[in-house]
Amino acid sequence: MAITRAGRICSFCGTPGGPGTDLPLIGGLGAQVCGVCIDDFHATIHDEEALAAARGSFPWDTMTDAEVLATLPQILASAEQNVGFAQEWVDLLRERNVSWAEIGRTLGVSRQAVWERFARKSGDKGASA
Ligand SMILES: [Zn+2]
Repeated sequence: MAITRAGRICSFCGTPGGPGTDLPLIGGLGAQVCGVCIDDFHATIHDEEALAAARGSFPWDTMTDAEVLATLPQILASAEQNVGFAQEWVDLLRERNVSWAEIGRTLGVSRQAVWERFARKSGDKGASA
């Protein structure tokens, strides 16, 4: 199965984007960023006053409790997206016939541990190789 950006969200604002939407996403290693966030970050980086303000505080410092609460599901959705990407990455490795032992070694865990974590979800029940 090919890894795509379909059905993904921006890891910074939580907005769904990618193919089939008006919101392009780019990124890697699971994290995605939308064009709106890139424009916002670009504007901040090139505005000394905005950059100084951004360096001096965190966004949550000025958020209400309701805003912090509303952000929690977005944080979890982004985390789940990254975990899903790790699964797709392991599936890709398995399609390339990389062994469970090699994947486990890379993650610093046993072949059995990595198999239990990833094989059940991918349906790759085979080969302990
Ligand atoms: Zn965004």
